[in-house]
Amino acid sequence: MPRRTIRLISRNDLILLLGMAIALHLSFSGPLAQALDYVDRIDQQLGLRLLPALVVLAVVFFIHQQRKRLEMRSAAVAAESDARLANQRAVEMERLVSFGEALARSLDLEAIRAAATEHLPTLAGGRGAWAMIRVQGQWQALTAADPATVAERERAAKRAFGESATLVGSAFGDICFPMIVAGAPIGVLGVSPEPPLTEHQRIAMTAAAALLAVSLKNAELFHEIRETSVRDSLTGCFNRKHSLEVMDGELRRSRRSKLPMSLIMFDLDHFKGINDRFGHLCGDAVLQSVGRQMNAVLRGSDVKCRYGGEEFFVLLPDTPLSGAQRVAETLRREFEEHPVMWNDVRVRVTASFGITGITPGEVEARLIIARADAALYRAKDGGRNCIRSAEEQEEQAIV
Ligand code: GH3
Ligand code: MG
Ligand code: MG
Repeated sequence: MPRRTIRLISRNDLILLLGMAIALHLSFSGPLAQALDYVDRIDQQLGLRLLPALVVLAVVFFIHQQRKRLEMRSAAVAAESDARLANQRAVEMERLVSFGEALARSLDLEAIRAAATEHLPTLAGGRGAWAMIRVQGQWQALTAADPATVAERERAAKRAFGESATLVGSAFGDICFPMIVAGAPIGVLGVSPEPPLTEHQRIAMTAAAALLAVSLKNAELFHEIRETSVRDSLTGCFNRKHSLEVMDGELRRSRRSKLPMSLIMFDLDHFKGINDRFGHLCGDAVLQSVGRQMNAVLRGSDVKCRYGGEEFFVLLPDTPLSGAQRVAETLRREFEEHPVMWNDVRVRVTASFGITGITPGEVEARLIIARADAALYRAKDGGRNCIRSAEEQEEQAIV
């Protein structure tokens, strides 16, 4: 806040003052001369020097008052700047708290990205601020930028890690604050060095980097826990419970979109024999291989489920029965043509398939699965390593 001093006497008043001084002198020169004579007589009678002593006292008093005034003024200025600094710190702390709150609400990378994009520029006091993170050994931008800038920031982040993973580093002009979780560096927060950061701002940015690091780790752990609760660890397929929930959702979506879907069920042939001959570890390796092959053949939007021990189903959204027939044939051939290598032995894997179409409006998942399952058992009865559809059975029944 600017300080204002009220001046009682301004430059314009000088002439007035001079006039008043002359008038006073003219009016009181007589009595003043008498008073000075009187003082002089007392000095001579008593052997004193009152007048010089009074002058010295007046000058010293004036100087003392001036010094006190200056001291008070500088104390007021210091108090004012302390108050301004405290206010600034309170604002920075408030920003840090609201960044922490936004991160606490963010359980996935996209939400953290949005929180960082919104809060980092304010936290950095209007300076350019960015964040790069390392995901599975690859650097990626947490805050959006054009490809050239991202490449430059990636170099800055690498350089910051190369110099020191624990100290604030400076690279390519920007000041880098490493994000570290349990001693492991997971990203870098960069801030433009102009105007220079104060000590307190550096502390605030270090805290922001720590908050980001913790929430990124938190999101990763949350994702992992969620994945392990819905996925089978051996094949990477959804477990039975989660698949049925997803299937219910897809059936409702199909009812609205009026797009057909289809379902493929398959069961590995003579899997017990593989376990018996090569051991359960080999059986597990076969299941892992089946999971990988399903991933390679199927679309990301297909719902892959391990329904039982060596029994699977795949829900194909927006796919009619003819499409499911083609997909099932591709999978069947993929298994047949790629035996699993186990201790230099080629373990032959085949599967029997049952497929069925789903008309928009069907809502009972269990009925649809039962239809595909019945077709699958016909494939087993038909010699295994083949495909049967529920619809061909219905056609035969009609004929
Ligand atoms: P079919 O051709 O008629 O399907 O014969 P099959 O031997 O595949 O069928 P069966 O139901 O008799 O055997 C399934 C076997 O799958 C029995 C079970 O021990 C095995 N199995 C189930 N889950 C796992 C698993 O997670 N790991 C391993 N290694 N084996 C499993
Ligand atoms: Mg089987
Ligand atoms: Mg089985």
